[in-house]
Amino acid sequence: MSSPPVSFERPASESRPGEYNAWHMALAQLDAVAERIHLDPDMHAILARPRRELMVACPIRRDRGHIEVFTGIRVQHSQGLGPTKGGIRYHPNVTLDEVRALAMWMTWKCAVMGLPYGGAKGGVICDPKTMSMREIEALTRRFASELVAVIGEDIDIPAPDVNTNAQTMAWIMDTISMTKGHASPAVVTGKPVELGGSLGRREATARGCVFAIENIAPRIGVDLSRARCVIQGFGNAGSVAHQLIEGLGVRVVGVSDSQGAIYSSRGLSFQRVFEHKTQTGSVVGCAESETITPEDLLGLDTEVLIPAALENQIHAGNARSIRARIIAEAANGPTTPEADAILDEAGTIIIPDIVANAGGVTVSYFEWVQSLQSFFWEEEQVNSRLRRIMDKTVDRMWETHLEEGCNLRMAAYILALTRVATAYRMRGLFP
Ligand code: NAD
Repeated sequence: MSSPPVSFERPASESRPGEYNAWHMALAQLDAVAERIHLDPDMHAILARPRRELMVACPIRRDRGHIEVFTGIRVQHSQGLGPTKGGIRYHPNVTLDEVRALAMWMTWKCAVMGLPYGGAKGGVICDPKTMSMREIEALTRRFASELVAVIGEDIDIPAPDVNTNAQTMAWIMDTISMTKGHASPAVVTGKPVELGGSLGRREATARGCVFAIENIAPRIGVDLSRARCVIQGFGNAGSVAHQLIEGLGVRVVGVSDSQGAIYSSRGLSFQRVFEHKTQTGSVVGCAESETITPEDLLGLDTEVLIPAALENQIHAGNARSIRARIIAEAANGPTTPEADAILDEAGTIIIPDIVANAGGVTVSYFEWVQSLQSFFWEEEQVNSRLRRIMDKTVDRMWETHLEEGCNLRMAAYILALTRVATAYRMRGLFP
């Protein structure tokens, strides 16, 4: 991506030169789109800075009796289109720069989908795999109590992300409700259905991703009923994607998680892999599969590749080995700009993260609307509305890609940035 067309102050970064940094990648993407749409430099400067960043210390008592202090982060990138929205992840590698990037991507994602939200993201630097449920609950409640001043149903609405789930959201909702003295179900989405969560939310990220693949495949002559698929990551997004795409008759030939990767030319049954992962904690060793390296997984002969793990998985070092016709980015930021260029050259179609995984935030929006109205929709209504919004967005992204002669990522960014910039211009500058 090219250098910024204008020079202005940007928040100090944490990484060393040459090291992968999601925030640098997000800024490079913004700069490239800004240049392409001739974005006003003042607007560019505003959008290159997160509106608000909060870092908090969260001391909790560990099961062994000592106190450990964890770091929690919440970044709200933009409130131009409405309250901010974005998940909270628990991971040892969380950094402020990563959360900034994820918050900015949420702004573009909500904008391209036509949702009334700006972008935010949160994270806690911790390894939940080494913590008990009691410790995770204590950490979640302490973090939530530190966020009381900056989150709320009309301010900023968290949701699950990597290593967090409906239970985490229930603890956050309860902590905020107890602190405020009244039930606040709309303060989070991705809650358990019993607490006002939406039917279809758990599956929504993967469902939206599969809807996007169904929309794109016929445009480039891929017949899904004969296609193969490889999925990196077998968590919420990846496992449900496996289940749904298998339901379309696609043969899932490779799957991985943080422990390793497996392959079967005859297809890996979702049910078998899911049961094996539930019993052993990993997909590795599943019956009727062969163990392969994570790098081999990405290079498998397949029509569809779904990265559903973390950022920076497809990079200059492995992009040339990828043989998929379609990459549908269920994960956020899995492809670096260098890899993008290599894959573009090879004619690979990438359905960008801000569209491919936007089913999650779209159904979160449905959940928020339901919680605010204390009124609940049938699952069929949730899924059909999601299909409608996803198809509309993918159609517009495809048309823009043809009109502008650019790839789908640039097309999605053009649509998103134009919407956000228009909103900012209409609102004017306060004071
Ligand atoms: P999750 O914690 O449920 O699952 C993550 C999975 O990735 C796990 O199976 C883990 O073992 C695997 N993984 C981690 N490192 C890996 C590696 N190096 N190689 C292969 N697998 C690896 O998380 P999730 O909610 O499914 O999120 C996955 C991605 O999807 C993230 O990028 C997240 O931001 C994005 N996303 C999730 C949602 C959502 O609603 N859950 C919405 C939008 C985007």
